[in-house]
Amino acid sequence: MKRPTIEFVNAARVPLPFRAGVVRELIPSGLAGCYLLRRVGVPRYVGRSDRCLRARLLNHPLRGLADEFVFDVCSSPESAYLLECAWYHRLGGQLRNRIHPAQPEERSLPCPVCDELVRASLADALSARPR
Ligand SMILES: [Zn+2]
Repeated sequence: MKRPTIEFVNAARVPLPFRAGVVRELIPSGLAGCYLLRRVGVPRYVGRSDRCLRARLLNHPLRGLADEFVFDVCSSPESAYLLECAWYHRLGGQLRNRIHPAQPEERSLPCPVCDELVRASLADALSARPR
C-alpha cells in the first residue's frame, strides 16, 4: 500500500480572505511582493511593495472593499515590479488601477510588456508600405 504524502501547495496564488489576520499569518514583515485584490471573484486592483508587502496590505485603502487577495512574495523589488506589470497588462480592463505600475525606486527597468508593444508597433510601422 502506497503511503500518503503531504505535498506543499503554494498558497500564494490562491485567493484568500482579505482580512488582517490572514495577512499577518501568511506574510512575514520586510519582504517585497506583488498582490491582486478581488471583489466577489473579480480582479479589481494590482499592486506591490518593494519593502514590506505585509504592511502594504494591512494598510491598504481598499481593505473593506476587496474581499479576497492573491499574493506572491518576490526576491527583489525588480521581480515584484515585473510580476505587477504582467498582472496589470493581463487583467487591464477589469482593474481600478488608473496608471501603469511605477518602476522601482532608483531603477530604470522598462516594463517588458510595454517594451514588446513598442517594438512590435515600430516593426509594423517600419514594414508598412507607404500609402
Ligand atoms: Zn507595461
